[in-house]
Amino acid sequence: MSAPVVRWAPSPTGRIHLGNARPALLNWFFARRHGGRYVLRMDDTDAARSTREFADGIEVDLAWFGVKPDLLVRQSERTALYEAAREQLIAAGRLYPCYETEDELDRRRKRARAMGKPPIYDRAALKLTAEDRARLEAEGRRPHWRFKLDGKPVQFDDLIRGPQTVNTASMSDPVLVREDGSYLYTLPSVVDDIDLGITHVIRGEDHVSNTGTQIEIFEALGGAVPQFGHHNLLTDPEGQGFSKRLGSQSIADFRQEGYEPLAVAIMATLTGTSIPVEPYESLDVVAELLDFAAISHGPARFDPAELDTLNSRILHAMPYSEAQPRLAQLGLDDEPLWLVLRENLVKFSDVVEWAKLIRGPVEPVIAEEDRDFLVAARELLPAEPWSIETWGEWTGAVKAQTGRKGKGLFLPLRLALTGRHDGPELKSLLPLLGRKACLDRLP
Ligand code: GLU
Repeated sequence: MSAPVVRWAPSPTGRIHLGNARPALLNWFFARRHGGRYVLRMDDTDAARSTREFADGIEVDLAWFGVKPDLLVRQSERTALYEAAREQLIAAGRLYPCYETEDELDRRRKRARAMGKPPIYDRAALKLTAEDRARLEAEGRRPHWRFKLDGKPVQFDDLIRGPQTVNTASMSDPVLVREDGSYLYTLPSVVDDIDLGITHVIRGEDHVSNTGTQIEIFEALGGAVPQFGHHNLLTDPEGQGFSKRLGSQSIADFRQEGYEPLAVAIMATLTGTSIPVEPYESLDVVAELLDFAAISHGPARFDPAELDTLNSRILHAMPYSEAQPRLAQLGLDDEPLWLVLRENLVKFSDVVEWAKLIRGPVEPVIAEEDRDFLVAARELLPAEPWSIETWGEWTGAVKAQTGRKGKGLFLPLRLALTGRHDGPELKSLLPLLGRKACLDRLP
Protein backbone atom coordinates (compact mmCIF):
# COMPACT_ATOMS: atom_id res chain seq x y z
CA MET A 1 0.00 0.00 0.00
CA SER A 2 1.34 3.47 -0.80
CA ALA A 3 1.37 5.74 2.22
CA PRO A 4 -2.23 6.27 3.32
CA VAL A 5 -3.75 9.58 4.33
CA VAL A 6 -6.42 9.43 7.03
CA ARG A 7 -8.37 12.04 8.84
CA TRP A 8 -10.23 12.35 12.08
CA ALA A 9 -13.03 14.85 11.73
CA PRO A 10 -14.60 15.90 15.02
CA SER A 11 -17.17 18.65 15.29
CA PRO A 12 -15.94 21.15 17.88
CA THR A 13 -19.31 21.43 19.56
CA GLY A 14 -18.21 20.18 22.97
CA ARG A 15 -15.39 18.43 24.77
CA ILE A 16 -14.62 15.06 23.21
CA HIS A 17 -15.49 11.88 25.10
CA LEU A 18 -14.38 8.25 24.94
CA GLY A 19 -16.64 7.55 21.98
CA ASN A 20 -14.85 10.30 20.02
CA ALA A 21 -11.43 9.14 21.16
CA ARG A 22 -12.06 5.79 19.47
CA PRO A 23 -11.99 7.01 15.83
CA ALA A 24 -9.38 9.63 16.77
CA LEU A 25 -7.00 6.88 17.84
CA LEU A 26 -8.01 4.17 15.37
CA ASN A 27 -7.10 6.56 12.55
CA TRP A 28 -3.85 7.40 14.27
CA PHE A 29 -3.01 3.73 14.70
CA PHE A 30 -3.71 3.06 11.04
CA ALA A 31 -1.43 5.92 9.98
CA ARG A 32 1.29 4.63 12.34
CA ARG A 33 1.06 1.06 11.11
CA HIS A 34 1.36 2.08 7.48
CA GLY A 35 3.64 5.09 7.71
CA GLY A 36 0.82 7.38 6.62
CA ARG A 37 -0.33 10.91 7.33
CA TYR A 38 -2.92 11.93 9.89
CA VAL A 39 -5.09 14.95 9.27
CA LEU A 40 -7.14 16.59 12.00
CA ARG A 41 -10.15 18.19 10.39
CA MET A 42 -12.42 20.41 12.43
CA ASP A 43 -15.95 19.93 11.11
CA ASP A 44 -17.03 23.38 12.20
CA THR A 45 -19.57 24.35 9.56
CA ASP A 46 -22.28 24.56 12.21
CA ALA A 47 -21.44 28.09 13.28
CA ALA A 48 -24.08 28.14 16.00
CA ARG A 49 -22.67 25.18 17.91
CA SER A 50 -18.96 25.13 17.04
CA THR A 51 -16.49 27.19 19.03
CA ARG A 52 -12.78 27.86 18.76
CA GLU A 53 -12.47 26.96 22.43
CA PHE A 54 -13.80 23.46 21.83
CA ALA A 55 -11.53 23.10 18.79
CA ASP A 56 -8.51 24.08 20.90
CA GLY A 57 -9.67 21.61 23.55
CA ILE A 58 -9.62 18.82 20.96
CA GLU A 59 -6.00 19.60 20.15
CA VAL A 60 -5.12 19.55 23.84
CA ASP A 61 -6.83 16.18 24.32
CA LEU A 62 -5.04 14.67 21.32
CA ALA A 63 -1.71 15.98 22.56
CA TRP A 64 -2.42 14.40 25.95
CA PHE A 65 -2.62 11.04 24.17
CA GLY A 66 0.66 11.87 22.45
CA VAL A 67 -1.00 12.29 19.06
CA LYS A 68 0.33 15.03 16.84
CA PRO A 69 -1.55 15.57 13.57
CA ASP A 70 0.47 16.12 10.42
CA LEU A 71 -2.03 18.72 9.29
CA LEU A 72 -4.90 20.66 10.84
CA VAL A 73 -7.70 22.11 8.73
CA ARG A 74 -10.88 23.93 9.66
CA GLN A 75 -13.90 23.62 7.44
CA SER A 76 -14.97 27.15 8.34
CA GLU A 77 -11.91 28.38 6.40
CA ARG A 78 -12.60 26.31 3.29
CA THR A 79 -15.99 27.58 2.15
CA ALA A 80 -14.71 28.53 -1.33
CA LEU A 81 -14.09 24.85 -2.07
CA TYR A 82 -17.63 23.95 -1.05
CA GLU A 83 -19.09 26.74 -3.20
CA ALA A 84 -17.24 25.38 -6.22
CA ALA A 85 -18.50 21.85 -5.55
CA ARG A 86 -22.00 23.14 -5.11
CA GLU A 87 -21.88 24.89 -8.49
CA GLN A 88 -20.51 21.73 -10.05
CA LEU A 89 -23.36 19.64 -8.65
CA ILE A 90 -26.00 22.17 -9.72
CA ALA A 91 -24.56 22.22 -13.24
CA ALA A 92 -24.67 18.42 -13.31
CA GLY A 93 -28.31 18.43 -12.25
CA ARG A 94 -27.52 16.64 -8.97
CA LEU A 95 -28.34 19.49 -6.60
CA TYR A 96 -31.77 21.07 -6.68
CA PRO A 97 -33.51 23.85 -4.77
CA CYS A 98 -36.39 23.05 -2.41
CA TYR A 99 -38.68 25.48 -0.65
CA GLU A 100 -40.64 23.40 1.81
CA THR A 101 -40.67 24.54 5.41
CA GLU A 102 -40.01 22.11 8.26
CA ASP A 103 -43.73 22.12 9.05
CA GLU A 104 -44.69 21.24 5.51
CA LEU A 105 -42.17 18.41 5.42
CA ASP A 106 -43.39 17.15 8.73
CA ARG A 107 -46.98 17.07 7.55
CA ARG A 108 -46.00 15.20 4.41
CA ARG A 109 -44.06 12.63 6.40
CA LYS A 110 -47.06 12.06 8.64
CA ARG A 111 -49.34 11.68 5.67
CA ALA A 112 -46.97 9.15 4.06
CA ARG A 113 -46.82 7.15 7.27
CA ALA A 114 -50.60 7.17 7.60
CA MET A 115 -50.80 5.71 4.09
CA GLY A 116 -48.28 3.04 5.02
CA LYS A 117 -45.55 4.53 2.81
CA PRO A 118 -41.97 5.21 3.88
CA PRO A 119 -41.63 8.84 4.96
CA ILE A 120 -39.08 9.76 2.33
CA TYR A 121 -38.95 13.07 0.51
CA ASP A 122 -41.26 12.99 -2.52
CA ARG A 123 -39.06 15.19 -4.74
CA ALA A 124 -41.92 17.62 -5.29
CA ALA A 125 -39.39 20.41 -5.73
CA LEU A 126 -38.01 18.76 -8.85
CA LYS A 127 -41.28 19.56 -10.58
CA LEU A 128 -41.15 23.29 -9.84
CA THR A 129 -40.96 25.51 -12.89
CA ALA A 130 -38.87 28.69 -13.09
CA GLU A 131 -42.09 30.67 -12.46
CA ASP A 132 -42.97 28.58 -9.41
CA ARG A 133 -39.54 29.27 -7.97
CA ALA A 134 -39.76 32.99 -8.73
CA ARG A 135 -43.15 33.13 -6.99
CA LEU A 136 -41.86 31.29 -3.92
CA GLU A 137 -38.85 33.57 -3.72
CA ALA A 138 -41.12 36.61 -4.07
CA GLU A 139 -42.98 35.28 -1.02
CA GLY A 140 -39.69 35.62 0.80
CA ARG A 141 -38.75 31.93 0.73
CA ARG A 142 -35.12 30.93 0.31
CA PRO A 143 -34.20 27.49 -1.00
CA HIS A 144 -32.36 24.71 0.72
CA TRP A 145 -30.60 22.32 -1.63
CA ARG A 146 -30.97 18.57 -1.93
CA PHE A 147 -28.68 16.07 -3.59
CA LYS A 148 -30.48 13.88 -6.11
CA LEU A 149 -29.66 10.32 -5.21
CA ASP A 150 -29.15 7.80 -7.95
CA GLY A 151 -31.44 5.19 -6.46
CA LYS A 152 -29.07 2.36 -7.36
CA PRO A 153 -27.72 0.29 -4.48
CA VAL A 154 -24.28 1.52 -3.48
CA GLN A 155 -21.79 -1.21 -2.71
CA PHE A 156 -18.49 -0.96 -0.97
CA ASP A 157 -16.09 -3.29 0.73
CA ASP A 158 -15.79 -2.13 4.31
CA LEU A 159 -12.34 -2.61 5.81
CA ILE A 160 -13.90 -3.72 9.09
CA ARG A 161 -17.39 -4.99 8.30
CA GLY A 162 -16.80 -6.57 4.90
CA PRO A 163 -19.05 -6.09 1.85
CA GLN A 164 -21.83 -3.55 2.39
CA THR A 165 -24.80 -2.41 0.37
CA VAL A 166 -26.59 0.85 1.03
CA ASN A 167 -29.94 1.15 -0.64
CA THR A 168 -30.19 4.87 -1.41
CA ALA A 169 -33.59 4.30 -3.06
CA SER A 170 -35.07 4.04 0.43
CA MET A 171 -33.53 7.32 1.56
CA SER A 172 -34.64 10.92 1.19
CA ASP A 173 -32.47 13.07 -1.04
CA PRO A 174 -30.20 14.61 1.57
CA VAL A 175 -30.12 18.35 2.19
CA LEU A 176 -26.57 19.55 1.56
CA VAL A 177 -27.04 23.32 1.83
CA ARG A 178 -29.27 25.06 4.33
CA GLU A 179 -31.61 27.93 3.60
CA ASP A 180 -29.06 30.42 4.92
CA GLY A 181 -26.42 29.09 2.52
CA SER A 182 -24.50 27.19 5.19
CA TYR A 183 -23.43 23.60 4.62
CA LEU A 184 -24.46 20.49 6.46
CA TYR A 185 -21.79 17.93 7.16
CA THR A 186 -22.25 15.69 4.10
CA LEU A 187 -20.85 17.75 1.22
CA PRO A 188 -17.89 19.53 2.88
CA SER A 189 -16.74 16.17 4.19
CA VAL A 190 -16.55 14.71 0.67
CA VAL A 191 -15.01 17.87 -0.81
CA ASP A 192 -12.30 17.86 1.84
CA ASP A 193 -11.67 14.14 1.54
CA ILE A 194 -11.05 14.69 -2.18
CA ASP A 195 -9.00 17.85 -1.74
CA LEU A 196 -6.82 16.41 1.01
CA GLY A 197 -6.26 13.14 -0.84
CA ILE A 198 -7.80 11.03 1.93
CA THR A 199 -7.28 7.37 1.08
CA HIS A 200 -9.07 5.75 4.04
CA VAL A 201 -12.10 6.99 5.96
CA ILE A 202 -12.25 5.28 9.35
CA ARG A 203 -15.25 6.24 11.43
CA GLY A 204 -18.12 4.94 13.53
CA GLU A 205 -20.72 2.57 12.12
CA ASP A 206 -23.38 5.23 12.61
CA HIS A 207 -22.02 6.62 9.32
CA VAL A 208 -22.62 3.55 7.13
CA SER A 209 -25.69 5.00 5.41
CA ASN A 210 -23.93 8.39 4.97
CA THR A 211 -21.26 6.47 3.15
CA GLY A 212 -23.81 5.38 0.57
CA THR A 213 -24.72 9.02 -0.08
CA GLN A 214 -21.16 10.20 0.05
CA ILE A 215 -19.90 7.64 -2.46
CA GLU A 216 -22.48 9.02 -4.88
CA ILE A 217 -21.21 12.54 -4.21
CA PHE A 218 -17.57 11.49 -4.68
CA GLU A 219 -18.54 10.07 -8.03
CA ALA A 220 -20.66 13.07 -9.01
CA LEU A 221 -17.69 15.34 -8.29
CA GLY A 222 -15.28 13.07 -10.15
CA GLY A 223 -13.18 12.45 -7.01
CA ALA A 224 -11.33 9.28 -6.06
CA VAL A 225 -13.51 7.27 -3.67
CA PRO A 226 -11.53 6.37 -0.54
CA GLN A 227 -11.78 3.06 1.24
CA PHE A 228 -14.13 3.00 4.20
CA GLY A 229 -13.92 1.27 7.53
CA HIS A 230 -16.75 1.58 10.06
CA HIS A 231 -15.94 0.55 13.59
CA ASN A 232 -18.35 -0.49 16.33
CA LEU A 233 -19.42 2.24 18.71
CA LEU A 234 -18.37 2.50 22.31
CA THR A 235 -21.19 2.66 24.85
CA ASP A 236 -21.35 3.42 28.53
CA PRO A 237 -21.86 0.57 31.05
CA GLU A 238 -25.64 0.80 30.56
CA GLY A 239 -25.27 0.40 26.81
CA GLN A 240 -26.01 4.06 26.01
CA GLY A 241 -23.91 5.87 23.43
CA PHE A 242 -21.65 8.63 24.68
CA SER A 243 -22.89 12.09 23.85
CA LYS A 244 -21.37 15.55 24.03
CA ARG A 245 -24.81 17.03 24.33
CA LEU A 246 -25.81 14.85 27.25
CA GLY A 247 -22.56 15.71 28.99
CA SER A 248 -20.79 12.33 28.92
CA GLN A 249 -17.57 12.23 30.89
CA SER A 250 -15.02 13.95 28.68
CA ILE A 251 -11.39 13.13 28.00
CA ALA A 252 -10.57 16.34 29.87
CA ASP A 253 -12.49 14.97 32.87
CA PHE A 254 -10.43 11.79 32.84
CA ARG A 255 -7.28 13.92 32.69
CA GLN A 256 -8.42 16.05 35.64
CA GLU A 257 -9.31 12.94 37.61
CA GLY A 258 -5.72 11.85 37.24
CA TYR A 259 -5.97 8.92 34.83
CA GLU A 260 -2.99 7.99 32.69
CA PRO A 261 -3.50 8.91 29.03
CA LEU A 262 -2.27 5.47 28.02
CA ALA A 263 -4.95 3.79 30.15
CA VAL A 264 -7.73 5.95 28.70
CA ALA A 265 -6.43 5.41 25.15
CA ILE A 266 -6.26 1.65 25.60
CA MET A 267 -9.80 1.51 26.96
CA ALA A 268 -11.10 3.72 24.13
CA THR A 269 -9.59 1.48 21.47
CA LEU A 270 -9.33 -2.09 22.76
CA THR A 271 -12.78 -2.32 24.35
CA GLY A 272 -14.90 -4.36 21.94
CA THR A 273 -11.96 -5.98 20.16
CA SER A 274 -10.27 -9.37 20.42
CA ILE A 275 -7.06 -7.78 21.78
CA PRO A 276 -6.94 -8.11 25.58
CA VAL A 277 -6.85 -4.95 27.68
CA GLU A 278 -3.35 -5.01 29.16
CA PRO A 279 -0.87 -2.39 30.36
CA TYR A 280 1.00 -2.16 27.04
CA GLU A 281 4.13 -0.11 27.11
CA SER A 282 3.03 2.57 24.67
CA LEU A 283 0.38 3.48 22.13
CA ASP A 284 2.76 2.40 19.38
CA VAL A 285 2.60 -1.13 20.73
CA VAL A 286 -1.20 -0.98 20.70
CA ALA A 287 -1.15 0.44 17.17
CA GLU A 288 0.83 -2.58 16.01
CA LEU A 289 -1.53 -5.05 17.68
CA LEU A 290 -4.84 -3.60 16.66
CA ASP A 291 -5.60 -4.32 13.05
CA PHE A 292 -9.12 -4.14 11.68
CA ALA A 293 -9.72 -7.87 11.86
CA ALA A 294 -9.57 -7.59 15.66
CA ILE A 295 -12.47 -5.15 15.91
CA SER A 296 -15.68 -6.95 16.78
CA HIS A 297 -18.97 -6.22 15.10
CA GLY A 298 -21.07 -6.03 18.24
CA PRO A 299 -21.20 -3.02 20.55
CA ALA A 300 -18.22 -2.17 22.70
CA ARG A 301 -19.21 -1.57 26.31
CA PHE A 302 -16.88 0.55 28.41
CA ASP A 303 -16.32 -0.65 31.97
CA PRO A 304 -15.03 2.05 34.36
CA ALA A 305 -13.78 -0.60 36.82
CA GLU A 306 -11.61 -2.03 34.06
CA LEU A 307 -10.13 1.43 33.49
CA ASP A 308 -9.22 1.68 37.18
CA THR A 309 -7.59 -1.74 37.11
CA LEU A 310 -5.66 -0.92 33.97
CA ASN A 311 -4.60 2.45 35.31
CA SER A 312 -3.21 0.87 38.46
CA ARG A 313 -1.45 -1.87 36.52
CA ILE A 314 0.26 0.76 34.38
CA LEU A 315 1.40 2.58 37.52
CA HIS A 316 2.56 -0.63 39.22
CA ALA A 317 4.86 -1.30 36.29
CA MET A 318 6.03 2.28 35.80
CA PRO A 319 9.81 2.58 36.08
CA TYR A 320 11.26 5.30 38.26
CA SER A 321 12.82 7.04 35.26
CA GLU A 322 9.36 7.64 33.87
CA ALA A 323 7.75 8.65 37.16
CA GLN A 324 10.63 10.87 38.27
CA PRO A 325 9.65 14.18 36.63
CA ARG A 326 6.14 13.93 38.00
CA LEU A 327 7.40 12.90 41.44
CA ALA A 328 9.78 15.85 41.43
CA GLN A 329 6.81 18.19 41.02
CA LEU A 330 5.36 16.69 44.18
CA GLY A 331 8.67 16.85 46.01
CA LEU A 332 8.71 13.03 46.13
CA ASP A 333 11.47 12.10 43.69
CA ASP A 334 12.97 9.28 45.64
CA GLU A 335 13.46 5.94 43.90
CA PRO A 336 13.04 3.55 46.88
CA LEU A 337 9.89 5.42 47.87
CA TRP A 338 8.47 5.04 44.36
CA LEU A 339 9.30 1.36 44.16
CA VAL A 340 7.57 0.64 47.46
CA LEU A 341 4.52 2.84 46.94
CA ARG A 342 3.70 2.36 43.24
CA GLU A 343 2.06 -1.01 43.88
CA ASN A 344 -0.66 0.74 45.91
CA LEU A 345 -1.59 3.38 43.39
CA VAL A 346 -4.79 3.57 41.41
CA LYS A 347 -4.07 7.15 40.30
CA PHE A 348 -0.65 8.69 40.20
CA SER A 349 -1.62 11.42 42.66
CA ASP A 350 -2.41 8.74 45.29
CA VAL A 351 1.33 8.72 45.87
CA VAL A 352 0.97 11.92 47.92
CA GLU A 353 -1.29 10.23 50.44
CA TRP A 354 0.82 7.07 50.58
CA ALA A 355 4.05 9.04 50.99
CA LYS A 356 2.71 10.24 54.34
CA LEU A 357 3.28 6.72 55.64
CA ILE A 358 6.98 7.35 55.19
CA ARG A 359 7.31 11.06 55.69
CA GLY A 360 4.49 11.51 58.17
CA PRO A 361 2.34 12.70 59.69
CA VAL A 362 0.95 9.35 60.80
CA GLU A 363 -1.58 8.95 63.54
CA PRO A 364 -0.72 5.55 65.05
CA VAL A 365 -3.75 3.38 65.81
CA ILE A 366 -3.20 1.56 69.08
CA ALA A 367 -5.89 -0.60 70.69
CA GLU A 368 -5.74 -0.76 74.48
CA GLU A 369 -5.44 -4.56 74.46
CA ASP A 370 -2.39 -4.31 72.18
CA ARG A 371 -0.49 -1.71 74.18
CA ASP A 372 1.72 -4.12 76.19
CA PHE A 373 2.39 -6.17 73.11
CA LEU A 374 3.50 -3.07 71.21
CA VAL A 375 5.70 -1.90 74.08
CA ALA A 376 7.42 -5.29 73.98
CA ALA A 377 7.80 -5.07 70.21
CA ARG A 378 9.36 -1.61 70.55
CA GLU A 379 12.00 -2.97 72.88
CA LEU A 380 12.91 -5.61 70.28
CA LEU A 381 13.42 -3.23 67.33
CA PRO A 382 16.79 -4.22 65.80
CA ALA A 383 19.68 -1.84 65.48
CA GLU A 384 20.29 -0.20 62.12
CA PRO A 385 21.27 -0.63 59.28
CA TRP A 386 17.93 -2.01 58.13
CA SER A 387 17.22 -4.05 55.05
CA ILE A 388 14.42 -6.05 53.46
CA GLU A 389 15.29 -8.81 56.03
CA THR A 390 14.69 -6.59 59.06
CA TRP A 391 10.93 -7.07 59.23
CA GLY A 392 11.30 -10.87 59.32
CA GLU A 393 14.00 -10.74 61.97
CA TRP A 394 12.09 -8.32 64.13
CA THR A 395 8.67 -10.03 63.97
CA GLY A 396 10.39 -13.41 64.52
CA ALA A 397 11.80 -12.09 67.77
CA VAL A 398 8.46 -10.48 68.77
CA LYS A 399 6.63 -13.73 68.07
CA ALA A 400 9.09 -15.74 70.16
CA GLN A 401 8.75 -13.39 73.09
CA THR A 402 4.99 -12.67 73.05
CA GLY A 403 3.66 -15.92 71.62
CA ARG A 404 1.46 -13.97 69.16
CA LYS A 405 1.24 -15.06 65.57
CA GLY A 406 -0.59 -14.37 62.29
CA LYS A 407 -2.98 -11.44 62.28
CA GLY A 408 -2.66 -10.93 66.05
CA LEU A 409 1.04 -10.34 65.52
CA PHE A 410 1.09 -8.34 62.29
CA LEU A 411 -2.04 -6.18 62.33
CA PRO A 412 -1.30 -4.23 65.56
CA LEU A 413 2.19 -3.51 64.21
CA ARG A 414 0.78 -2.26 60.91
CA LEU A 415 -1.87 -0.12 62.64
CA ALA A 416 0.71 1.45 64.92
CA LEU A 417 3.33 2.06 62.24
CA THR A 418 1.02 3.29 59.46
CA GLY A 419 -2.29 4.16 61.10
CA ARG A 420 -4.19 2.02 58.58
CA HIS A 421 -5.28 -1.52 57.73
CA ASP A 422 -4.02 -1.57 54.15
CA GLY A 423 -0.88 -0.45 52.41
CA PRO A 424 2.49 -1.53 51.09
CA GLU A 425 4.25 -4.62 52.36
CA LEU A 426 5.80 -3.84 55.70
CA LYS A 427 9.01 -5.63 54.89
CA SER A 428 9.60 -3.12 52.07
CA LEU A 429 8.29 -0.18 54.02
CA LEU A 430 10.32 -0.72 57.19
CA PRO A 431 13.76 0.23 55.79
CA LEU A 432 12.25 3.45 54.41
CA LEU A 433 10.73 4.33 57.78
CA GLY A 434 13.93 3.77 59.73
CA ARG A 435 14.29 3.05 63.38
CA LYS A 436 13.57 6.55 64.64
CA ALA A 437 10.15 6.83 62.98
CA CYS A 438 9.23 3.35 64.25
CA LEU A 439 10.23 4.25 67.81
CA ASP A 440 8.08 7.38 67.55
CA ARG A 441 5.03 5.48 66.35
CA LEU A 442 5.19 2.61 68.83
CA PRO A 443 4.04 3.27 72.41
N1 GLU B 1 -17.96 15.37 11.99
C1 GLU B 1 -18.39 14.03 11.74
C2 GLU B 1 -18.66 13.34 13.06
O1 GLU B 1 -18.11 13.75 14.06
C3 GLU B 1 -17.32 13.30 10.98
C4 GLU B 1 -17.71 11.98 10.46
C5 GLU B 1 -16.68 11.50 9.48
O2 GLU B 1 -15.65 10.99 9.93
O3 GLU B 1 -16.88 11.67 8.28
O4 GLU B 1 -19.45 12.42 13.14
